[in-house]
Formats: sequence, C-alpha cells, structure tokens
Amino acid sequence: MNNALKVLLTSIFSGSLLLLVRKGFASDLKVINITEQLVRSSDRQYLTRPIGEITDVTIHHSRSEGQDAFDYAKYHVNVKGWPGVAYHFDIQPDGTIFQTNYLTTVSWHNGTDNAGAVGVCLSGNMDNRVPTDKQLKSAIQLIKWLKRKLPNRIVVKGHNEYKSTTCPGKYMPMKYIRSRTNS
Ligand SMILES: [Zn+2]
Repeated sequence: MNNALKVLLTSIFSGSLLLLVRKGFASDLKVINITEQLVRSSDRQYLTRPIGEITDVTIHHSRSEGQDAFDYAKYHVNVKGWPGVAYHFDIQPDGTIFQTNYLTTVSWHNGTDNAGAVGVCLSGNMDNRVPTDKQLKSAIQLIKWLKRKLPNRIVVKGHNEYKSTTCPGKYMPMKYIRSRTNS
C-alpha cells in the first residue's frame, strides 16, 4: 500500500470513528429545551453568570405528582413573584429531560448558593416514593453530561444540604446518584 492510500484510509477511518463518538455523545442525552416557552416575569430578571462559576448541581423534587415545568414556571412567577422558573432542568417520571433555564441563568432554587448551582428537579413527591428507574437514569446521564460540559469539578448535593428543607424528599437516593456520577 502506498503512503497516499494509507493516509486516505486512515483519515476516512478516524473520521468515521470520530463521527461515531460524536453520535454516541449526542444520543447519550436527549434534552428538550423549553426555556423560551415558559412564562417569565415582565419586570424582574434573574442575574447571569459565566459557566466557569458553576460548582454544584442541586437535586430537588417537585413534591407534587403529574406536574411539569410549565406548572412550576406559572407557580414560581405568578404566585411566588420570581423572575422565572426556579430549576434549570425538570426530569419527568418517564425519563424526559426538559431544560428550563440556561446554565448561565442564576435562578433561585436552593436558598444559599444559587450563583454556583444548577438546579435539577425530579418531578414527583419523593417523600412518598423513589424516583422511577427512567428518571434516575436520566438524572445520572444529565449530571455526567454537565460534568463533561462544565469546566469546574462539579459536586452533587441535595437541596437540604444548603438549607433546612425536606427537599429532595426522604426517598431520593442521593448516595446512589453521587456514586453513579462519581461526585
Ligand atoms: Zn428543592
């Protein structure tokens, strides 16, 4: 085989390999971004940050069943008077991941360290049940994806590690989530 052919074959091979790797990453995580579709306050706005300031993922539960980020946005804006929905992501019991704020948005969700945290809500009342297998799988994939995407080492904490609250619910398996995401 001559050198030109070798180079050609090598580049085709590595190119398709790269494509496979990229496809693998892309299909790893399906996120439906509804950030622009959620109700926002007309007169209040969350602050923003560079992603280099993010150090934590805060895990929440919604403490309600059968609701989604559209419901949380309405409650947080219309009832609580906040600038927008509290969470950055909502994970439904069927495993669907909704992105609800940009990572650069400093939304209000954990009470003490919003500036450094990404809020991930698992929809459901985890004082009454464990998250579904699909929900847990999606949460773990999302955290792994965030750890790859963000420059700092990311720590995963329950909401009750920031302030006194029952969130993320007594059946939220924080140890399992931490061990599966190496955080
Ligand atoms: Zn919470």
